[in-house]
Amino acid sequence: MKKYFAIKGRLLTPLVFALAFVGMLFEGHIRQLEKELNEEYERIEREFFRASKMLTILDYSLNNYIKVRQSLILTHTTKIVNGVCHMRPKLAATENDSNPNAHLQALEYIIVGDKALCDKNSTLHHEVGFRIALAPVISLLHDLDEYLIGVHYIDPSGYIISSPDTLSVNVTTDVLEQIQSPSWDVYQDLGEEQLIKVRGPTVLQELKSTESLVSLMLPVYSNHQFEGVISLNIMLDKLLSANQRFAGKLHFIDTRETSLPTSAFQPYSFQDAGIAFHHAIYYDMNWGDELYQFIRMKQNTLVLITVMYILAVMSFLFMNTRHAKSYYEGLAVRDPLTGLRNRRGFEAFLAHTPHQSYVAIAMFDIDDFKAINDQFGHQIGDDVIRYVGDQIRCHIRATDTVARYGGEEFVLYLTAERESHLRRTLLRVKEALCEESEMVVDGGFTISGGVEIVAGSELDDIDAILKSADDKLYTAKESGKNQLIF
Ligand code: GH3
Ligand code: MG
Ligand code: MG
Repeated sequence: MKKYFAIKGRLLTPLVFALAFVGMLFEGHIRQLEKELNEEYERIEREFFRASKMLTILDYSLNNYIKVRQSLILTHTTKIVNGVCHMRPKLAATENDSNPNAHLQALEYIIVGDKALCDKNSTLHHEVGFRIALAPVISLLHDLDEYLIGVHYIDPSGYIISSPDTLSVNVTTDVLEQIQSPSWDVYQDLGEEQLIKVRGPTVLQELKSTESLVSLMLPVYSNHQFEGVISLNIMLDKLLSANQRFAGKLHFIDTRETSLPTSAFQPYSFQDAGIAFHHAIYYDMNWGDELYQFIRMKQNTLVLITVMYILAVMSFLFMNTRHAKSYYEGLAVRDPLTGLRNRRGFEAFLAHTPHQSYVAIAMFDIDDFKAINDQFGHQIGDDVIRYVGDQIRCHIRATDTVARYGGEEFVLYLTAERESHLRRTLLRVKEALCEESEMVVDGGFTISGGVEIVAGSELDDIDAILKSADDKLYTAKESGKNQLIF
């Protein structure tokens, strides 16, 4: 009976199911994250590929311009700032809206170089003329993608063509000196072959930038002669944070400088036939943030699970109450030892049972039961009581009944159309009980009983009838036991 009232179990079982379901959902969330990370890595790889294509186009153009060997200096304005010559397209420099060439303001580039660049008669100025036609193309490319923040052509003779103009505005004479030195680490890194190298992630402090950048760099060769470097700056934060769905951040690292942290989730090494990558990308997983993101995304499902959990608990509790109610109701009318009706149950039965012509109320009592208890123990005594109850129940009709009235006393109700049937049945029950009693205790036992038979219509005063049956039982005991008195 205890199990009906194990409230803990009623709360825990649905909770276990609910948690298992949430666990499965979370697992699905992680699988989805893995899938989306793969897609994201593919996207980033594609972007690098696109960028590498731009570099190749620039390289191709440069080679052609190199071959032309024709100076193409257009109209530019020049200005020396802190010892560095700044050269800009003239049309772009004007702010006069009525200028018919105002649309050319889109040509957003700058050439920075040694002071000599500003001198029209210098070799450097003349040199730049061979490359200047490239500037509008550079200007166009830098704008193509959001993450592409700068395209440069760095020439070892001491100048940089750069778009947009904002980045190179900060180039100092030190930087110009660096690019003229063949031992500059950028040149060293590029090596001999004409292959796109990836530099970074780095923060270009010399250009006063605060963003983390990755540069794709391609050395330009003409007739095996190193001519310069085309570089494309990619703003890493923009490239990596395009997908707002991720709770954590993507990290792009140079594996030669930084090793993968152990917590790196789903690391992936970049590979591209045209780019010399030594780079990997990984997801910085914070399980707390991931869980929060999961809750945010699966909000509706989680609410549904909670509601279902509450409903399950409520229905369990409701069932519990009903079980408890019927249990206690059962307790009130049933005898726990034999499962038979008790006195109250018997009275309830009488009140709701239609009687036939005759009704017999019999009171049975085991003879010398105390001796059984004494000889075989209380347990066997209980077995005897249960046996008597079962036997009586088996020998009477389903419409008749037997109740335990206390101790080892049983009250039987039998109804029939003829009085003689009642007598016969009761004698048969008594005989059967006594004959088979040896099955329960050695030597067996006998039973005495007092029987009152009345017409079905005269059953109003049950107490008087019971009293009369009890009196007859007493007589049976007094006059030798093992008999029924009618
Ligand atoms: P008699 O032939 O006159 O009926 O003698 P008896 O020994 O059967 O006397 P009585 O009916 O007065 O004895 C009832 C005994 O039954 C007393 C009590 O110890 C025992 N008894 C009452 N209820 C239980 C029970 O639930 N289990 C067991 N094992 N014994 C019970
Ligand atoms: Mg007795
Ligand atoms: Mg008794």
